[in-house]
Amino acid sequence: MAARRLRSGLGQLFATRTALGRGRRAYNTSQAFAEVLRLPSKQLTKLVFPLQELERHLVPGSRPDFHLKTFDPSLEDIAKSDGVFTATVRNRIEYLSSAVSLDHAPDLLCPEVCFIGRSNVGKSSLIKALFSLAPEVEVRVSKKPGHTKKMNFFKVGKYFTLVDMPGYGYRAPEDFVKMVETYLKERKNLMRTFLLVDSVVGIQKMDNIAIEMCEEFALPYVMVLTKIDKSSKGHLLKQVLEIQKFVDTKTQGCFPQLFPVSAVTYSGIHLLRCFIANITGNLKTNGFQVS
Ligand code: GDP
Repeated sequence: MAARRLRSGLGQLFATRTALGRGRRAYNTSQAFAEVLRLPSKQLTKLVFPLQELERHLVPGSRPDFHLKTFDPSLEDIAKSDGVFTATVRNRIEYLSSAVSLDHAPDLLCPEVCFIGRSNVGKSSLIKALFSLAPEVEVRVSKKPGHTKKMNFFKVGKYFTLVDMPGYGYRAPEDFVKMVETYLKERKNLMRTFLLVDSVVGIQKMDNIAIEMCEEFALPYVMVLTKIDKSSKGHLLKQVLEIQKFVDTKTQGCFPQLFPVSAVTYSGIHLLRCFIANITGNLKTNGFQVS
């Protein structure tokens, strides 16, 4: 019965299962993703492709600026990227070190991605959600805003490093701008910056500090919209459309497609993992070219 429903609703599922049947890591990935694949298609879309789910509430074809197809991986790709984020004996995912300046940052050659955002935007929670397949990794989630005063480096096997940057805004470290600016400007292996914006309140004055930095240094960056579980569908859609308009009209280096996420429901987390796997050169999704 379940198999019949999946066969009709999710054409790619069986191809995915076949592909996942090969090799040990693929088997682990299959286990981690199996529950997601068992969901009815509407719930699966909401969890894995939250932007597509939102688009259903618009007049068809009325918003070509929604950029749904810029990054549009298959379920198989998404399952594979979960493998990159799954801790195993051969794929050690761990906290590496903290640094107060670029001079103190670990000297690494592998690709790197960094996460920046206002204090309280949900950065620690998001990183924790991304690392949920490596539960032993400790990401500090604080109730007090501005707790992250250093750059925290995490190693994801041989694949890439992820940097948790200090939150800016209220009680941000005084030398925040200097520390972050130097890192963004000079870090040679930095592949992409993930700039977090709270989807409940949209782009705030403080967010513009980071946006302007990325634009000024001509960095490729991506806007991630956090806490999407907190708003009604109508409010979320309004915010997404406003932010999309901002990205389309006011930015040069921002990736056109937005990444809405929730660290509570895990909506959008799998897609973001898959995007990171592509950006860092560890997965090649058909039709997507890393620029
Ligand atoms: P940071 O300062 O940017 O690291 O933010 P935190 O991750 O510490 O989150 C700040 C607050 O927002 C905490 O109370 C979190 O529980 C809450 N939060 C973070 N992400 C989400 C989310 O996706 N949904 C909801 N409802 N709350 C969230």
